Amino acid sequence: MTLTGHSLIAGESVPGTGRTTQAINPATGERIDPVFTLVGTAEVERATRAAEEAFRTYRETSPDVRAGFLEAAADRIDAVRDELVARAMLETGLPEARLTGEVGRTTNQLRLFAGVVRQGDFHGVRIDPAQPERTPMPRADLRQRKVPLGPVAVFGASNFPLAFSAAGGDTASALAAGCPVVVKAHNAHPGTGEIVATAVSRAAADAGVHPGVFSLLYGPGAEVGQQLAKDPRITAVGFTGSRGAGLALVEAAASRPVPIPVYAEMSSVNPVFVLPGALAGDVEALAQGFLGSVTGSSGQLCTSPGLLFVPTGDAGDVLVDAVRAAFSAAAGQTMLTPGIHDAWQEGVAALGSQSGVSELVTGETGGTQNAPAPVVFETTAQDFASNDVLSHEIFGAASLIVRYGSPDELPAIAAGMEGQLTVTLQLTDSDHDAARALIPDLERLAGRILVGGWPTGVEVGHAVVHGGPFPATSDSRTTSVGSLAIERFQRPVSYQSFPDALLPEPLRESNPWNLNRRIDGVVKEA
Ligand code: NAP
Repeated sequence: MTLTGHSLIAGESVPGTGRTTQAINPATGERIDPVFTLVGTAEVERATRAAEEAFRTYRETSPDVRAGFLEAAADRIDAVRDELVARAMLETGLPEARLTGEVGRTTNQLRLFAGVVRQGDFHGVRIDPAQPERTPMPRADLRQRKVPLGPVAVFGASNFPLAFSAAGGDTASALAAGCPVVVKAHNAHPGTGEIVATAVSRAAADAGVHPGVFSLLYGPGAEVGQQLAKDPRITAVGFTGSRGAGLALVEAAASRPVPIPVYAEMSSVNPVFVLPGALAGDVEALAQGFLGSVTGSSGQLCTSPGLLFVPTGDAGDVLVDAVRAAFSAAAGQTMLTPGIHDAWQEGVAALGSQSGVSELVTGETGGTQNAPAPVVFETTAQDFASNDVLSHEIFGAASLIVRYGSPDELPAIAAGMEGQLTVTLQLTDSDHDAARALIPDLERLAGRILVGGWPTGVEVGHAVVHGGPFPATSDSRTTSVGSLAIERFQRPVSYQSFPDALLPEPLRESNPWNLNRRIDGVVKEA
């Protein structure tokens, strides 16, 4: 398609009002056409008004209509896959295979939520039937379901131009819940955003839902993003990005006359604890796995392992030597934007200058612009425990090896860390006692605990948690990936003593949507 450089509001292409932006190819530094015009306050309001109008009908769409919309969006995006991948490669510097996989992940996510909508458990139907004969007080008929909150503002992420952007997980889960979405496009990949937004808008027309169900706006975060978070029609925010921007949104939302929830996924260093028994296994494979997880997508993954805890002593030295060898030949890959590259360099310089931190290995610089050599530092558990800077996130291919003396030290280390998306244990059977002692602290630390493997590569399913205590997210009670994410955009409502004819369909006696229901506390399958 020919890109217009315009925002898309309720299915209409809407030019901005004066200021412009342009994508930059991070591999070459060249500007990429077209010029994108940025919206002002009137366009933001137009989008949120359309979303509010759409909500009146979209909130009560039948399972077939809502799931059909999500499936149509997936089909429309799949149909433009090649064009999408080509544009995203130019705008992000990410390789073709990664982006092709990301298109699949994005459309699978939309289809997963279509399945959730058709299956229906997310309505959370509970029925306590009337007990008119109960003494001393009769019981009224009480029925509960979850309703969608209302229009949701979504902030696309720089590092997942598809799976966490215009039609990414936040959008898919909000639409599945019955909430219209207004996306604040990430200005690092505006063309990718326009292609996806066009597909979603066409899908809304295909499915016959109100066009205001989806809009995408180009504009500065500090203005358009802030206005969205403060707009009275917006009822929740989904965000992936930096801690600073996430917190600015949390503050904006909390200081509104009517505060709203912000689900911000921000910062995580994803510690990996190598327990002593694991050093008796395939240490070379451990080093290669670590290399892949640190350097994949140039380290720009929210679950990239920024800390590797390795025992002191000869066996630990063998692993550290294997890491040194693995990284020495690793080439840098293009980072997403010159700004993210600069932030990475500042983070690396800050870490490298800390007392007790030494550089273990630096790989090779990549052949493009903004492709710095991956780097690994080393320190001791004592220095780590006494200096917060050593646990700051460095977004990109950098990590810190922390040498510890005994597994007995690990619970205190874990208890002293900030909240994380993931924490990983490398272990064998001989480590079970040490792991058992550590796991209670890990449950308090992170949203996902792995045994073996590496934290990058998040499965999109029903049991996954991509969340965790602050600052991994602003709300640890939920997840931004997987089907549970839908609950972020719902709230429960009880209907007391309603005549059947007035009940919403999910709660009617005849159960027209064939939902599983909890009746008097017991789940009854449809
Ligand atoms: P960012 O600066 O947090 O920006 C993310 C989005 O928030 C952008 O659309 C941005 O708009 C908007 N925004 C920025 N400041 C805002 C404010 N005060 N109010 C409302 N919206 C605001 O993140 P980024 O540009 O993607 O990457 C920068 C850094 O974020 C990275 O170096 C990394 O540290 C971190 N990051 C972390 C993760 C993770 O998963 N943990 C993922 C991506 C990035 P504008 O660009 O128009 O200002």
